[in-house]
Order: sequence, then structure tokens, then C-alpha cells
Amino acid sequence: MSFRALVVDSKDGAAGVRDLSPDDLPEGEVTVAVEYSTLNYKDGLCLSPGGGGLVKAYPHVPGIDFAGTVEASDDPRYAPSDKVILTGWHVGERHWGGYAERARAKADWLVPLPEGLTTRQAMAVGTAGFTAMLGVMALEDHGLEPGGGDVLVTGAAGGVGSVAVAILAQRGFEVAAVTGRPETEDYLRGLGASRIVPRSELAETVRRPLEAETWAGCIDAVGGAMLARVLGQMKYRASVAAVGLAGGADLPATVIPFLLRGVNLLGIDSVMRPYADRVRAWERIGTDLPMAKLEDMVQEARLEDLPELGAAILKGEVRGRVVVDVRR
Ligand code: NDP
Repeated sequence: MSFRALVVDSKDGAAGVRDLSPDDLPEGEVTVAVEYSTLNYKDGLCLSPGGGGLVKAYPHVPGIDFAGTVEASDDPRYAPSDKVILTGWHVGERHWGGYAERARAKADWLVPLPEGLTTRQAMAVGTAGFTAMLGVMALEDHGLEPGGGDVLVTGAAGGVGSVAVAILAQRGFEVAAVTGRPETEDYLRGLGASRIVPRSELAETVRRPLEAETWAGCIDAVGGAMLARVLGQMKYRASVAAVGLAGGADLPATVIPFLLRGVNLLGIDSVMRPYADRVRAWERIGTDLPMAKLEDMVQEARLEDLPELGAAILKGEVRGRVVVDVRR
């Protein structure tokens, strides 16, 4: 039985929806009938010419996330009709991913769909939202509690940022949202932001190693000069969860905030995250992310739309989250 997939044919990024056969799928213990996938920044890279250096072989089926129903399994942990989620493990980069009606993966890479979430909601969250949750959990594990002051979210109108704003607001934090798109102010306030910070205010590199103690915590999706600047504005012993590099991979900072204010810089990786952490994060998503707000962030797309959307996300033009209905 053939199935549809978005195939990137070659390194130059040429892509189209093609019919594939199950024999074309890579090796793995579990075959999944994919229902939804999504679009993350990394998907934009995988869809671009050269695959952002992440894709090693062509033809390639991108899609770093998928959710669907198990069709066949050689692993006792999963059986046909089980609902599952996959994020990370370099799926969609080195291994064929979720931009297809069928996917095959290692059982170790899957997690069961948590009670109360649909496969569509899981993909509205996707790697971006899962990573936002990991960032919030890291800040809480390092002592962040409501009432301690504003929590900053950078790249707020993007995927990671939008989910972070909604989760933090739901948890009772005052959220300051950094955006370069003033037109997203109503959207961000709707997600729960109590303050909007124009990107230009934090765009310059460190002027003084320490500025006024302003932020009780930070989820940073931007990196670069903005992260360096934010480090000098953190309150005493506050933490920054470093999640992304939408603004750059360098870090033109000084160590002074670490030494004089005990600031913590917490690295967040979602790709190789161990199973127990994944299950804990997905459970927290089920309880801490208001589903109505999640829906407000979402736009739906088809496989055919992905090449264009992939280019848009790399330019910072996608708001919130994109859910891909692979059967449409
Ligand atoms: P999006 O493109 O959806 O969001 C990124 C946001 O960053 C944009 O919407 C924009 O927000 C802001 N931004 C873009 N360019 C710049 C710039 N030059 N300077 C300052 N701000 C900028 O991407 P995602 O949310 O999917 O991913 C965000 C980052 O997190 C990426 O770097 C991604 O690779 C990383 N990531 C890391 C993971 C991990 O495991 N550590 C997992 C998932 C993502 P606005 O318009 O509001 O200013």
C-alpha cells in the first residue's frame, strides 16, 4: 500500500509530494500511521538547500516530530492501535521523519501519547513546545517560583517562545515577552504576557557586565548578543534556560554575572533527552499548558505547504506553531 510523503530529492532543496511504498521506509521496530507532524526551526533547516548541514543523505523525508497510531510493532512495549509521539533523536535529519503518512522508528525513540492529549495537540506542541516545557522545568528545578519577579521570554512570538509564555502565565508567573514584531503584541498578551519588550532594547551587545537586576528567570530562544545582554540583567542567583540560537550561536558575554550575582546558565537539549524526562515533560504539558491558548497559536498546513513555510520560519516570519495534517 503506497503512502504520500514530502520528499527532498537532492541537496539543492528541490522537494515534492511523492507516493512511496512501505519497502522504502528505513529500518526500525515500530511502523506508525502518522496523523500529524509540525514545523520547527530545525525543519526549516532540513528543508533548505544543503539541509542546514543536518541532512546527510538524499532522497530524504524531513519532519523532526510526528504523532500517530502504531500500525505494526516488533517491540513488546508497543502494539497496533497504540497512540505515540516522536520528537528528537535526529529523526527528520539522519533518519526519515514525519512528513509522510507512514514512518518507521526505533521503539526507544517513542513515547506513549499522554492521557487527555490528541495527536493534533501533541504536534501543536511539538519539539518547540516540548523544549519550552523542559526550559520551564529547569528554571523551577533551580528555584524559580511565582511572585519572584518578571520572567523574560525571548523570541516570544516564535514556537518555543509562544508555548513558554503560555505555560509560565498559566503557572502564575509575570511574563515579559521580547519580540521584534510589534504586531504580535495582542497575540502575546492573549497568551498571558503582562509586558512586551521590544527586541531593539536587548539587541545590542553587553555595554556593562552588570545592569539593574530585572529578571527572575529567562527562557532564551535567541542566543547571541541578546543572551549576553540578558545575563547582566538577571536577579541575584536567577537562572537562564538557553534553548535556541535564532539570533546567533555566539555568546559575546563576560563571566561577571556568574561570579558576582551567582547567575545560572542552564543548557536545554531536547534531542537526546532520556525517556523518563520525556514522559515527565509530556505529563506537565498535559497539566500546565491551557489547550485553548495552544489552539490560538496554531495554523494548519499540508505537506505541499512545507517548502514555503520552511523558508518562512528561517526568516522569523512564522507566528506560533504550525500543525501539519499529513493526510490532507
Ligand atoms: P521560531 O522561528 O518559531 O522562533 C524564533 C523566534 O526568534 C522568532 O519568531 C523571532 O521572535 C525571534 N528571532 C528570529 N530571528 C531573530 C534575531 N535575529 N534576533 C532576535 N530574535 C530573533 O523557531 P522555534 O521557536 O522553533 O525555535 C527557536 C530556537 O530554538 C531555534 O534556534 C531552534 O533551533 C531552537 N530549538 C532548540 C531546541 C533544543 O533542543 N535546544 C529544540 C527546539 C528549538 P519575535 O518575532 O517574537 O522576535
